[in-house]
Amino acid sequence: MRVILMGPPGSGKGTQATSIASNLGVDAVSSGDLFRDNQRRDTELGRLARSYMERGAYVPDEVTIKMVMDWISNPAHSAGFVLDGFPRTHAQAEALDAEMKALGGVDRVIFIKVSEDELIRRLTGRQICRDCQTPYHIHFSPSKTEGKCDNCGGELYQRDDDKADVVTTRIQVYNQETEPVVDYYRQAGILREVDGEQDVGDVGKAMNAAIGG
Ligand code: ADP
Ligand code: ADP
Ligand code: ZN
Repeated sequence: MRVILMGPPGSGKGTQATSIASNLGVDAVSSGDLFRDNQRRDTELGRLARSYMERGAYVPDEVTIKMVMDWISNPAHSAGFVLDGFPRTHAQAEALDAEMKALGGVDRVIFIKVSEDELIRRLTGRQICRDCQTPYHIHFSPSKTEGKCDNCGGELYQRDDDKADVVTTRIQVYNQETEPVVDYYRQAGILREVDGEQDVGDVGKAMNAAIGG
């Protein structure tokens, strides 16, 4: 099963990706997490990505496509996967299609719909675990112990690009670059839309139903 999670920044992709993937018996990957991992290890890719991410711009297609294709072509992911945050541009969608052609293509694209006001509330209150990347929210889904991850005890931090000024740019970039990709999959007939403004459990149920149906 090959599934893509799409939706604006803050729509809940990362919150849902792990449990959706474990239900399907496959791995999930977030292109944003892969970039942040490269930054932590201070690789050349990490340094390049940082210069775009810190101002809310997309990392260039060429490097993004290569990074995600490397992950997909790992034999451990041949049975399927859940992609969180890729593809985000037309060129990325075309590259993924070309790669998937021999395997019968992508099975489902789930689009999580959330209003802009809610996205801003979510992103500006988001905290991330430094070790396992689980997202929390200071009001909507706080960790049990303040500042610590429920899963692994890791330290929670606020991403630099979740500060209010960068958040606005990211939503604009999404509207410009990624909305057309949503339409592309809608026209292909594999897109299912889910109301992302329900509570976390109900969004998850709706997504699982959309993948099954
Ligand atoms: P994305 O990966 O799409 O950017 P996240 O999964 O990181 O989004 O969620 C963004 C923020 O919103 C996080 O702080 C998360 O805890 C919170 N969040 C996610 N889903 C919901 C929901 N259904 N209701 C309220 N808050 C949510
Ligand atoms: P979000 O919460 O906005 O969904 P991510 O963690 O997925 O955040 O992405 C963070 C940043 O990483 C993006 O703003 C962008 O700079 C970069 N990025 C992630 N995925 C992609 C992609 N598919 N194409 C280009 N840039 C990306
Ligand atoms: Zn953790």
